[in-house]
Amino acid sequence: MRFAAILALLLPLHAQTARRLNRYEYNATVRDLLATPFQPAADFPVDDSGYGFDNIADVLSVSPVLMEKYLAAAEKIARTAIIPPTPPQPSVQRFAARDFHLKLDFEGDYDVLIAVPGRPDPLNVVFSIDGVPAETLPLATPTEKRVDQTRSSEFRIRFGRGNPRLSVELVPDGPPIEATPGEKHPPSPPHLGYVELRGPYNPRTPPPSESYRHVFLCGHAPGHHTLACARTNLADLARRAYRRPVTDDEVDGLMHFVQQAETIDQGMQLALQAILVSPRFLFRIEPAGSLDDFQFAARLSYFLWSSMPDEELFQVAAQRRLRDPEILRAQIHRMLLDPKSRALVENFGGQWLQTRNLDNLQPDPSKFPQFTNELRRDMQQETRLFLQSIIRDERPVSDFLSANYTFLNQRLAAFYGVPNVEGAEFRRVDLPPDSHRGGILTLASVLTVSSYPARTSPVIRGKWILENLLDSAPPPPPPNVPKLDETALGVTATMRQRLEQHRSNPACRGCHARMDPLGFSLENYDAIGQWRTHDGDLPIDAGDGPDTLKQLLFKDQDRFARCLAAKLMTYALGRKASLPSVTGNETFSQLVEAIIGEPNATK
Ligand SMILES: [Zn+2]
Repeated sequence: MRFAAILALLLPLHAQTARRLNRYEYNATVRDLLATPFQPAADFPVDDSGYGFDNIADVLSVSPVLMEKYLAAAEKIARTAIIPPTPPQPSVQRFAARDFHLKLDFEGDYDVLIAVPGRPDPLNVVFSIDGVPAETLPLATPTEKRVDQTRSSEFRIRFGRGNPRLSVELVPDGPPIEATPGEKHPPSPPHLGYVELRGPYNPRTPPPSESYRHVFLCGHAPGHHTLACARTNLADLARRAYRRPVTDDEVDGLMHFVQQAETIDQGMQLALQAILVSPRFLFRIEPAGSLDDFQFAARLSYFLWSSMPDEELFQVAAQRRLRDPEILRAQIHRMLLDPKSRALVENFGGQWLQTRNLDNLQPDPSKFPQFTNELRRDMQQETRLFLQSIIRDERPVSDFLSANYTFLNQRLAAFYGVPNVEGAEFRRVDLPPDSHRGGILTLASVLTVSSYPARTSPVIRGKWILENLLDSAPPPPPPNVPKLDETALGVTATMRQRLEQHRSNPACRGCHARMDPLGFSLENYDAIGQWRTHDGDLPIDAGDGPDTLKQLLFKDQDRFARCLAAKLMTYALGRKASLPSVTGNETFSQLVEAIIGEPNATK
């Protein structure tokens, strides 16, 4: 389809909210629709963010570059899903090792040649596949002279697809040839020269891929479909891709591709390509009024899974039962327990806490040599597992502030100074009372992303708390005010004195009076989140300290819950929205229910 034709299809959408799938959602949707073995959106342009999230309708634009990418991705996905791979031409591979692995995409015959230079002692060659002898052949002894010569043994063998380990062993089959008297240059003993593989011959086409079976639900082999089964398959494929029942007209339109093509398989490939560049697939279209059951199901699945509804959710919507509070609750619960809810942890959690940025940060290696890539991954894993446990284990959301457990392996436990955690595996750990850890505020990931590479910033941490825990982001600094030169801090004055000077400017005082004390309470954590009592020679002055800060936030847990609900709502709806009333004693799934069940969530 041409670019202009696609734009024409898009135009009528302006009356409604059309929310484009972002990169993650595109990958996840194609994965669930077609079991694609690759990430088709990997080279799409990065999605813009709004209100802190990259799934906001207003900012997800469609550029000509993205259109090109959609067309190319659709072509590749449809080709991979439908055209069976063609077997390679026979080729020659040589291996010098006794032991090696092969990667075979096709079942087929291979000629194996084993070359053995050296003295012509009587020998058997034993050829093994995955440690099991498959062929034992005597090596011909053309001469009984003690000279160097290369002998070989050749046979044909059929391999299945896979990654077999092949090995060759030379086993004596009699006494070695004895030396002749007066021999000056003794020949070397026989040894393996190389193993040569030629093939595949008579390859067998592999059974249809999983993607193929996702397109052709009829189950016939390629080349055995009828027009009738093409129609049934297309109707079902389009229903899943568009996340709603399709009309006969829509199926007729797609069948056009099949009727025009030489074979049904080719036609289905073109029809699939058309589906994948259709706005009905690329956009979630929500009308200005109330959502219908299918739109509601899609909103729920993109909220919790960043992907399309599965068959169960779709059927509940088709039976018009999804608005029943009991059934909605059960579906939310089921969906949060599904491994696909990892998307919520990564995409909502990673953007809410800003820990996604950890990938791109490089703390100053001269100050923090202990910050390795392994430690970075451990910090990310702790954050992921901690969020996941609150989401799945029905914990009250106030655990985000005050949990007395976390998830550690030996390396991260040592970094935190938590004893008795051994091994590389992460596990849930009850935190000792003096650990100074517990809750998101003391996660090393959070403390690192709210610091500069070389040192902490109470201003950034204070702003982080206001923004992400209290939904009270300070306005941007006023213009015409000299910027706080933070790079000079710690050189001519201590940070606290310097910030006090800055606060004496009335234009700055309001915000900094709120931000700075919050940030200073976390001064006992350095710029990669490690506990400290001194910064260089100076003792740390952390004001009330982190425990008091956590207690204060915990006392205000309804305020935190409102903040979390506001963030979740923005993420779920793809726009700013008004809030449900919450107290902080809710579990995560109750919060989801309050948000998705709100009158404004279904409009
Ligand atoms: Zn068929």
